[in-house]
Amino acid sequence: MRGTETYKNRIPIESLIFVNRNLRLSSIKMIGFDMDYTLAIYKYPDFEILAMEKTIERLVEKGYPAELFKGNFESGFLMRGLVVDKINGNILKLDKYNFVHRAMHGKRMLTYEERYSNYRNKKLDLFSEDFMWLDTLFSIPELAIIINAIDNIRNKKRFHFVKYSKLISDVRKCIDEVHQDNTLKQIVLSDIPKYIEYDPLLPPTLHRFKSNGKKLFLLTNSYWEYTNAVMSYLLSNRMREYKDWTGYFDIIIVGAKKPDFFNSNNMFYTVDVSNSQIKPLQTTIASFIKGIIYQGGNINDFERLSAIRGEQILYVGDHIYGDILSSKKRTLWRTCMIIPELEKEIKVSQENMKEIKSLNRMEMQSIILDRSLNLIKYNMKNEDGCDKSLRGDFEKLKRKHQRLIEAIKKKRDAISKKYNAEWGSLLREENELSKFGAQVEDYACIYTSKVSNFFHISPDQYLVSPPKLLPHELEIEELIR
Ligand code: IMP
Ligand code: MG
Repeated sequence: MRGTETYKNRIPIESLIFVNRNLRLSSIKMIGFDMDYTLAIYKYPDFEILAMEKTIERLVEKGYPAELFKGNFESGFLMRGLVVDKINGNILKLDKYNFVHRAMHGKRMLTYEERYSNYRNKKLDLFSEDFMWLDTLFSIPELAIIINAIDNIRNKKRFHFVKYSKLISDVRKCIDEVHQDNTLKQIVLSDIPKYIEYDPLLPPTLHRFKSNGKKLFLLTNSYWEYTNAVMSYLLSNRMREYKDWTGYFDIIIVGAKKPDFFNSNNMFYTVDVSNSQIKPLQTTIASFIKGIIYQGGNINDFERLSAIRGEQILYVGDHIYGDILSSKKRTLWRTCMIIPELEKEIKVSQENMKEIKSLNRMEMQSIILDRSLNLIKYNMKNEDGCDKSLRGDFEKLKRKHQRLIEAIKKKRDAISKKYNAEWGSLLREENELSKFGAQVEDYACIYTSKVSNFFHISPDQYLVSPPKLLPHELEIEELIR
């Protein structure tokens, strides 16, 4: 008994690995990692503020007035997993069923009526040009710029000429440019410790996998020079067993162009590390060679050249679309999603668990009360000369239900604000999963806040999903209480 007690709380909750689909680590032969925001976590908010400033500089160079972008980087308005309505300049938070729960215009939340008239009873084509998904952590600065600019348009008459969709597309173009022309990368490389977290548990975590017989690979969209500098900072000279960072990996692929990597026939190149020149990989090559740096490529050639395929591969990434959804849809690879925000989400849930449980109970009570109320109402309508006591009961119960609904709303708002002042929890929305949470559930076999959390479990662990209560089981639980 004592033994189990000692083990029980050894792993901090925020470092646990959570399971959607059972995964036997002992069956995994090869583990792949994305780099940016997976192995290399950018320091919040230093990197985001840098990206915001450099993008605004670019927008101003292109002729936008600097005043339009005036405003601070305010975390309370920012979250990933949101969708931009480019036509109306609104930011939306959706639930699993694409129902719009929250909508913000600049820094003003739309009222229920405004949301209703804009987004209810209309089929929204969320995958059309009119909408833009903010699903990576790289989207946060973009969101900060859009929110400030739209707020300025809302408040200052002289900006009323700006068209939302053009502005939002130009922000996208400019942030794309500062990523691609190395504006951001140059600054990050000039002071890596300022912009990228160093995690001392990362080298021993990768080493544990290797010592346990797993092959490791890196599959990043970043190109060689940047990858080399960042990975050197994270891994080189950190453990005696490895001469430099490349020693940790059996296969290294840079400039992978995910998600295309998973659904194209892009060819592989080799990179000459002395001058970053690339050469097409010869088609006669039968397998990858350790130590060579590859660029580009596609999943089919990857599986042929590595001689490992399908369910024997676990891919660890942070981008729901580029890393997780695309690999899950096109391959049998198992997936692990890195969600750095999870640490805070867990902390808030932990601190408020008593309140959350009480809220859940109140919601179940409301469902049960509502059912009784409706039945009494129906009976009153249909019974001749309905007796007075029934009407009295009905009025009493109705008031009780009303009070309960108000209390639920108050409690729900108070809890939600603790996750994010405006947007609530990243993974939830009211009683549902948020769209982002639903995508994590659908496409990530497992998820955790950072790669080094694997250090706390056995590399042969059978990761098992917890039992889930179905609606009828929740009702039974409340009714027998
Ligand atoms: P990962 O290692 O596969 O996550 O690759 C991320 C790479 O994509 C980094 O080099 C980023 O600078 C780059 N990136 C992120 N957002 C954008 C963008 O909007 N446009 C172009 N490149 C981006
Ligand atoms: Mg990434």
